Amino acid sequence: MNITRMNVRKLLAILLLISLSMTIPTSALAGNNGKMTEEEIRELVADMQSEDNQTVSIQPMSGTGNIVVMLTAGHCSQHTGAAASGFVEHELNFRVREYARQELQRYAGVTVLVDRPTVQCRWPHFTTWQQCVSERVQYAHSRGAHLFVDMHFNTVGGGQRGSEIFIQNPQHPQIHQQSRQVANAVLTQLARINGLQTTRGVRWHNDRQFISNRLSTEFGMNSMLIEYAFMDNAQDAALIRTPGFLRQLGVATATGIANHYGLRLAGPGGGGGTTPSRINYSVHTQNLGWLPFVSNGALAGTTGRSLRTEAIRVNIHSAFAGGVEYRTHVQNVGWQGWRRNGEISGTTGRSLRLEALELRLTGALATRYDIWYRVHIQNFGWLGWARNGASAGSAGMSLRMEAVQIRLVPRGGAWPGSPDGAFRTPRGAISGTTPPGGSTPPPPPPPPPPAVSISYNSHLAGIGWQGIRTNGATSGTTGQNRRMEAIRISLANTPVAGGVRYQVLSRGLGWLPWVTNGNQAGTTGQARPVDGIRIELTGAMASQFHVEYRVHQSGHGWLSWVRNGATAGWSLQGRQLEAIEIRLVRR
Ligand SMILES: [Zn+2]
Ligand SMILES: [Zn+2]
Repeated sequence: MNITRMNVRKLLAILLLISLSMTIPTSALAGNNGKMTEEEIRELVADMQSEDNQTVSIQPMSGTGNIVVMLTAGHCSQHTGAAASGFVEHELNFRVREYARQELQRYAGVTVLVDRPTVQCRWPHFTTWQQCVSERVQYAHSRGAHLFVDMHFNTVGGGQRGSEIFIQNPQHPQIHQQSRQVANAVLTQLARINGLQTTRGVRWHNDRQFISNRLSTEFGMNSMLIEYAFMDNAQDAALIRTPGFLRQLGVATATGIANHYGLRLAGPGGGGGTTPSRINYSVHTQNLGWLPFVSNGALAGTTGRSLRTEAIRVNIHSAFAGGVEYRTHVQNVGWQGWRRNGEISGTTGRSLRLEALELRLTGALATRYDIWYRVHIQNFGWLGWARNGASAGSAGMSLRMEAVQIRLVPRGGAWPGSPDGAFRTPRGAISGTTPPGGSTPPPPPPPPPPAVSISYNSHLAGIGWQGIRTNGATSGTTGQNRRMEAIRISLANTPVAGGVRYQVLSRGLGWLPWVTNGNQAGTTGQARPVDGIRIELTGAMASQFHVEYRVHQSGHGWLSWVRNGATAGWSLQGRQLEAIEIRLVRR
């Protein structure tokens, strides 16, 4: 970290403390009769100094296999929130965030991001608080965050009390469902705090969602906005003044998040980087719901109780880059698409049984380990062990999966057991060491069809239609401050029926209607920049491929890859797109 920046930050911290103690004598920072104790001041300074070697350093987070959690303190010194009972909301938010950060950083397998090191605004040049919030979500996304946590305190006029957590609405069912799980885990912890009500529960807005909820959805992140308590309620205000209460809120938040993702406290030797690789998994079982995470070959699920598993989540903590991907064969549905790194595969609330499972490692992990797994199914009990993407379970036999074991074995190491009969179909049993997708004996490969491709042509200021690019090549320009105004996208050699559709956010016009298969999206001759784009596949193509795309945006550079209809581009700030890359990835 830059020395100058370090000193500036310390100076800011000290100035902040002076200004706080001078201007807010009954400060919300107080944990003791409205006054900030010596101890708390020392603690706050220590917190800020510890930032010098903490997580605000900027480095890419993808590929560590860690869960990435962004903790943000709602509002800031410039874009302030509510105030009541002598409390200043953004200061309370900041303190709880610091306690949550300290607690969550005790766990291995998680990367904790924060929005800013002090209560000062990180983006003071923005005039609106909406921009300040938007920038935080964008930052979290650019660092590969899985979860965005927005921490607040409430006011309503005195009549309400307690905690409530706002999550993304069910318009995106999977994101909603996952965020609901995290929020429930946090609420469970908050409910243990003496005197704090949690009956308001987990909520969402169908229209007018909070910005952090809505934008997180656009970026494919889970999010929750926590309102810890009502500052203007007498009972809640008394709680907030209770010594240790803010710390309890932060610890409860971190503990809930850690429980949800199956994190374990790091050993005395420090973070997860020095610990052996560990695979964690949790199943959702009929009548029981999500069961606790277990690790490294332990049994997840039940046996002898005739209960079906309905969904599974898997993650890996490892010093090696890469992760785990998995898919399940669901009753009436068949094989779902691949999920990864803690995402839910399967269904909940639909009474559909899992029938089979495949797992595979990615990145450096795949060169270090074999992943082995076996499942316990109705009528057969434990089947043979399967390895590295081979199928485990059954298909076409209407048999429920009841339990699963998963373990990592050093690449080429001893098999945990026989692979015979790991996967069963009405036509017979298949070994778990048969290569993925294979059967016995493997059929000769069909002659390769002409490769499917995606092509696109951008209309650029001062250039016009630039010419066709394909399969991930860059269309547009970078470093020329040259706006993209329109685009045409098409597919060729599609192996199944279907096409592509897309829409652009055109400056001053909003989102234009979707167009398909080579038609023009956007304008020409109007000097109107494109600020955002969404692309998705249609028909059977959508079930066999992802369409992935990323955009180069003025002032930001290349944004992260997004896919399947997600918004690429930063809709709130009117920053023009200058280049785009689009590719197809087989599901
Ligand atoms: Zn701000
Ligand atoms: Zn707020």
